Amino acid sequence: MAIPLMLYDNYARERRQFEPLVAGAVGLYTCGPTVYDHQHIGNFRTFLFEDLLKRVLEWNGYVVRHVMNITDVGHLTSDADTGEDKMEKGARRTGKTAWEIAQLYTESFIDDMARLNLETPSVLCRATDHIPEQIAFIADIEKNGFTYRTSDGIYFNTSLQPDYGFLARLDKAGLEAGKRVELGEKKSITDFALWKFSAPGEHRQMEWESPWGTGFPGWHIECSAMAQKYLGDFFDIHCGGEDHIPVHHTNEIAQTEARVGTRLANFWMHAYFLLSNDAKMAKSAGEFLRLQSLIDRGYDPLAYRYLCLTAHYRTQLNFTWDALDAAAKGLDRLRGGVFALGEAGANFGANFGELDAGYRERFTAEINDDLNLPRALALAWEVLRGDLAAGTKKATLLEFDRVFGLGLGAWAPKTESIPEPIAALAAARAAARQSRQWAEADRLRAEIQAAGWEMEDRVDGYALKRITVSSK
Ligand code: AMP
Ligand code: ZN
Repeated sequence: MAIPLMLYDNYARERRQFEPLVAGAVGLYTCGPTVYDHQHIGNFRTFLFEDLLKRVLEWNGYVVRHVMNITDVGHLTSDADTGEDKMEKGARRTGKTAWEIAQLYTESFIDDMARLNLETPSVLCRATDHIPEQIAFIADIEKNGFTYRTSDGIYFNTSLQPDYGFLARLDKAGLEAGKRVELGEKKSITDFALWKFSAPGEHRQMEWESPWGTGFPGWHIECSAMAQKYLGDFFDIHCGGEDHIPVHHTNEIAQTEARVGTRLANFWMHAYFLLSNDAKMAKSAGEFLRLQSLIDRGYDPLAYRYLCLTAHYRTQLNFTWDALDAAAKGLDRLRGGVFALGEAGANFGANFGELDAGYRERFTAEINDDLNLPRALALAWEVLRGDLAAGTKKATLLEFDRVFGLGLGAWAPKTESIPEPIAALAAARAAARQSRQWAEADRLRAEIQAAGWEMEDRVDGYALKRITVSSK
C-alpha cells in the first residue's frame, strides 16, 4: 500500500494527508525574492525547503507546476504600507536605475539557485511584467465593494471579511486596541494598499497609469494576480517563509477571496527562519551572509544545502560556522563514500541498479512524514555504513539523492586542481609508505597538512582534499 504524504498545513494548523486537486498534478506557488539586493542564506533556507517539497512531490509521482514570482516593485520598507519602495531605495544606494538593479539581483538569484541545485521553476514571473493583470484584479475587488480611496492610494477594507486573518489566527480586536502606529487615513489597522499613487510632483522610476491615477501596485497584489493567472482560482500548495503568515499571505488570501471567493491554495506551508546569533537574518538589517560569502571562505555551496537537510523546516535553525563545518564534513564523507562504492568493482556490475526496496520504503516513510529530511539523511548513512552489496548501496543512495539534490552521482574527487608541489609531496609520501618508511611518511603528511591539504589513504591509492577554512 502506498505510504500517504502528510504535510503540515498552516491554514488548518495540522498535518493533513496531501491529495492533489487534479489527479497526478500539483500546482505550487512560492513567493520569490525581492530583488533590491542579493539574497542571503536565510532566504535560501526557505527556497531550499520549497525545492525539497517539490522533489518530495515528484518522488510521490506528481508532476509539479511550480510558479515563483520576482518582486521587482511595490515592496515598501515597512509592512504597514509606509516608507520607501525597496527598489527605488536600492537604486539610490547603488547609483543604478531601479530597472538595472532588478535585473542585476534577479540574475544573482538565478545563479545562486543553480549553485544550490534548486530546480528551475516552471514559471518565473516578474511583478512588473504583470501590471495589467494586477490592475484588472484590483478593479474586480473594487467592483465587489472591498476597496476605498485615501489621498495616497486604493486600500483593501479588511473589516468586510469576517474571516480576515484566519491563516495567522490574528487577534483583530487586540490589534485594533493595541495599535501603536498612526492609522492615517486607513479605516482599520489591518487594511493594506492595493495601489499606491505617485506623490504629487514626484516622478518615480517605476510607475504606471491606472484607472485610479499614476502609481504602482501594492506588494501583495502581484502574488494573487500571478498565482491566479498561472495556477487558477484554487490550487494545491502555497509557500513562503514564516514572516509571510501574518501579513503577506494573509492579504493574498483576502484579495483572492474578495475576487473569486477561494482561499487561493489548499495547503499553506512555511519555512521557519534561519537565525544568526539567535536573531533573524535579514537583508534590511544591513549585515548578512550571501552564498558567495560562504564560497569565499572555501565552502562548497552544497555544504549549505546539506546543513539545511539536517534541520526540520518547521524549526528555526541557528547558523554557526561550526555547524557549517560539520555539514561540509558530512557532505564530503557522503560523497566520498558514494564515490568509493563505484570504484569497488567486483560485486558492482551485476546488481547495480537494483536498489534496496526495503530502504526505499523506509525513505518514503520519512520524507512523507512532513518532509523529515534529517531522518531521511540518517537513513542514507545507515545504508552507506550497512552491509548491502556495493552496487545496491550505490543505486539506493543515488535514488535518495533525487530528493536530497546533493549531486552525489556526479561527484568525483578533484585531483586535477592540486598544485604541483603538493602532488609531488603526496607522491613522495606514497612511495615512502610503500617502502615502509613510516617516519618519513608521517613527516611528509605533516608538510602536506601545513600547506592546507589533507591526504586520505584509500585501498587503491590516495586522495587529496583542501582543508576548509573556517572563521575560527
Ligand atoms: P524577500 O526577498 O524578503 O521577499 O524574501 C524571500 C523569502 O525569504 C521569503 O519567503 C521570506 O519569507 C524568506 N526569508 C526572509 N528571511 C528569512 C530567514 N532569515 N530565514 C528563512 N527565510 C527567510
Ligand atoms: Zn507572495
